[in-house]
Amino acid sequence: MKSETPKPATLEVASGYKIAAHRERVLAYLRGEPVYPVSLELDLTSRCSRNCRDCPSTRASVHWELSENFIERLFSVLGGNVPGLLLTGGEPTISALFAPTLALARQRGFRDIAVVTNGSHLDNEEVCTALLAHASTIRVSLYDWEEEVFSGAESILQHLQTLRQRIEGSQSPLRIGVSALTSTRRLKKLRRLVQKAVGAGVHWIYFHPRCRHWDQGRPQPEEQAGVLDEIGRLQEEFSEQIEIDVSTQRYLDFPLHFAAYHAAHFLMVVGADRKNYLGAEVKYHPDFVIDDLGNGFDNDFLWDNIRLQQIDAQSSDKYRALGSRHRGVLYNDFIERLKCKDREAERILDSRPHFRYPHIL
Ligand code: SF4
Repeated sequence: MKSETPKPATLEVASGYKIAAHRERVLAYLRGEPVYPVSLELDLTSRCSRNCRDCPSTRASVHWELSENFIERLFSVLGGNVPGLLLTGGEPTISALFAPTLALARQRGFRDIAVVTNGSHLDNEEVCTALLAHASTIRVSLYDWEEEVFSGAESILQHLQTLRQRIEGSQSPLRIGVSALTSTRRLKKLRRLVQKAVGAGVHWIYFHPRCRHWDQGRPQPEEQAGVLDEIGRLQEEFSEQIEIDVSTQRYLDFPLHFAAYHAAHFLMVVGADRKNYLGAEVKYHPDFVIDDLGNGFDNDFLWDNIRLQQIDAQSSDKYRALGSRHRGVLYNDFIERLKCKDREAERILDSRPHFRYPHIL
């Protein structure tokens, strides 16, 4: 990794400064006012039809499903106040509640709705119809794309090609994204992956670092030397064919500092076990539950004192998932810099940067 001053990104899907797109909400938080999250990240189920290395869903001995009543109750409190919804898992498309939840989310006022999926079930008519009608974007995780020279991903790419044709035929605003994990070891294969995505009609591809040690709640990126340079070359070469996104700050090694996990006020992560976790990088880890919503919750549960204390208790000197440089960790550092009146952070906030899907943090 190299160290350099991070720069703000614009019109990207992801950035360590994406929180800066919500200037008024951030300023309200800095004034000590209660704020609603920008995004709700929700697992409909912890089950999955795949078996990826290091995934908490794969390792779980017990699996959970959200109930219709729970989702309705959560949306009745957050809908209209929280503009972004990310449905993930586990694999959300295998939940019986997938299509009804997408429809309900639109009814309840969520504006950007994204679905993270492994893509295996995009040939299911009910799933496709719901996506075309209600979702803003899908992000297909091609996490095992290098194995057996794309043999695992080939059928998924075919599903994406068919979905793209249906988007064009129906004028649906749905956009197709894929995400892939990078490492120095995979460097030479990134071009081939981009070519495959272009061939399948994918609109955007998001690269992020592959991490290890998820099981210890201590994710750390694998070696990433050369990855940013290669992605830069691909962005130039394929600029007319596909949007290639990367959160640059995840690859840099500038120091991170925060006195509390501020991002939990802006990005709310709820597992299929109905527990609210501090951040996506520690989901399903029992040490990072900040609220258990399983026994019901009040309309103002976001500002419950015990929940707030859990958020305040996680500073950078003790947060063991710090090395993941996940988006929550980067937002924490950015907000801390604003609290300390850092001029560069204030300049970024005042520049009101624009991002694709601003409400999906
Ligand atoms: S596809 Fe996603 S949820 Fe399923 S096992 Fe792999 S990483 Fe986990």
